[in-house]
Amino acid sequence: MADDKKKASALAGAVMTAEGLSYKGMIMNPVVENCTGCDRVVALEDKSYCPTYAQPEKKWMRGICNFATHVKATVDKEGKTKVNPLKASKRAAKGR
Ligand code: SF4
Repeated sequence: MADDKKKASALAGAVMTAEGLSYKGMIMNPVVENCTGCDRVVALEDKSYCPTYAQPEKKWMRGICNFATHVKATVDKEGKTKVNPLKASKRAAKGR
């Protein structure tokens, strides 16, 4: 219940404009598919937004979002970013 209040207040003061959801002077873009399962996602009206990052699709362009709560990025020996295999398998088992 306290979590719901915290989430609801995360985008307090956000106003829907013709350009999109305006929050603290920025236009917020809706979350992308990769954000599914992240605790930071806040549903507002018929869409979901990320109060942490205004443009979620850009956060995922170069790999895993570093603010994500549902996936953990690790860097392998070659310097490539990998998803935590345990979390990835749990997500796959849940069908996400
Ligand atoms: S923190 Fe990252 S993964 Fe989570 S909702 Fe925001 S952009 Fe998406």
